Amino acid sequence: MPEFQTTPGTRDILPPDARRWRSFVDVFAGVVESAGYEQIILPMFEDLGVFQRLGDATDVVTKEMYDFVDKGGRHIALRPEQTAGVCRSFVQHHPVVPWKVWYAGPNFRYEKAQQGRYRQFDQVGVEVLGIDDPQLDVEVISLAQTFFDSLGLRNVTLHINSLGDTGDRARYVEALAAYFRAHEVELSQESRVTLGRNPLRVLDSKRAEDADVIAQAPSISEFFSPQAAQHFAAVQEGLALLNIDFVVNDRLVRGLDYYRSTTFEFVSTALDAAQTAVGGGGRYDGLVEDLGGESTPGIGFAIGLDRTLLACDAEGVFAAPDSGADVFVVDTTGGRAALRLAADLRTAGLHAQRAYGAKSMKSQMKTANKSRAVVAVIIGEDELARGVATVRPMDGGEQSEYPLDQVVATVVDIVKKAR
Ligand code: AMP
Repeated sequence: MPEFQTTPGTRDILPPDARRWRSFVDVFAGVVESAGYEQIILPMFEDLGVFQRLGDATDVVTKEMYDFVDKGGRHIALRPEQTAGVCRSFVQHHPVVPWKVWYAGPNFRYEKAQQGRYRQFDQVGVEVLGIDDPQLDVEVISLAQTFFDSLGLRNVTLHINSLGDTGDRARYVEALAAYFRAHEVELSQESRVTLGRNPLRVLDSKRAEDADVIAQAPSISEFFSPQAAQHFAAVQEGLALLNIDFVVNDRLVRGLDYYRSTTFEFVSTALDAAQTAVGGGGRYDGLVEDLGGESTPGIGFAIGLDRTLLACDAEGVFAAPDSGADVFVVDTTGGRAALRLAADLRTAGLHAQRAYGAKSMKSQMKTANKSRAVVAVIIGEDELARGVATVRPMDGGEQSEYPLDQVVATVVDIVKKAR
């Protein structure tokens, strides 16, 4: 055992998985940038207060935050998610609305590490600030759906709900708390504790002993104002228009205090662990205001990269993209010719590899085969003396000699035709 290993809940993302990660973000960027979202890069740590604005009823804030006092005496926290940072940034820079941004990067939560749940995990996501229109909700949800489709995932189910307007939600929470208190003895010990902090969160309990009480609990839909009902109906109509399947799940309450109106979650039915939510989001009100800005409506989602890739594994889709070389330079004359040629081939835009150390021809050709190059360029003593190189197609095609100054153009041509 080496002395140092990754700490619990963190992982090295090794090749070729890291390539798959980057490709995941590229696909995401392609989807959301086609709808006018622009990338934002936020700091990974902020003043603790930024995240405390997410509300003290959420575990993410109360129990899972990585926070510390820095050498300047500031109370800092590693970001547990990026919505709060986006809103802080919006207030700080007051951009023109609608502000449509996307992000990718790691978040940190001190959680119990298990399959699909890590202490450092990556998310990709979007936020839109400044628009309260159900058609935007549909757009945002459809972008997440398009992204899952682009990865090739087939077993992802969309759950949607509405938490009503601010007043509706408050009346619902009150009614829910009264209901759960009346049935407190039937609830699990954990849910009784949750009830004291956030009655909505009791609905999240997956414990068998809570199931009956939860099943009979009042539904948020009974508390919708006419406007909230209309907004939710418009969202459903829009999703239907785009042929996006969904399940209305009135038990779907997102944890953060700020969530209002439309909420949604994507669940992978291919994952059989407890962690099946691959992404989620919704509308939020008041967050921008609480961070010192004007009252601004917001909506967004975050998709867990680690967990979505587990879903891809489970469905056998979205493998790491091919990393095969275009060309492999074999040099048995000491390597100086390879050094030069490989550099020129790379400048010409090719993926060029070579062997190092004075390896034999046989050993270098073996490495060339492994590199999956389309073509090998071979320089031996004889070629060097004559100022030529042998260009050998790796598929067994006929090889030819070219003057050294024609090799790059020739190889570019061959590779272009082969790809
Ligand atoms: P949340 O920000 O809690 O709504 O989470 C959004 C998505 O991020 C989830 O659906 C998960 O895919 C992912 N996620 C959240 N927490 C973790 C974690 N600790 N480890 C891995 N993925 C996570």
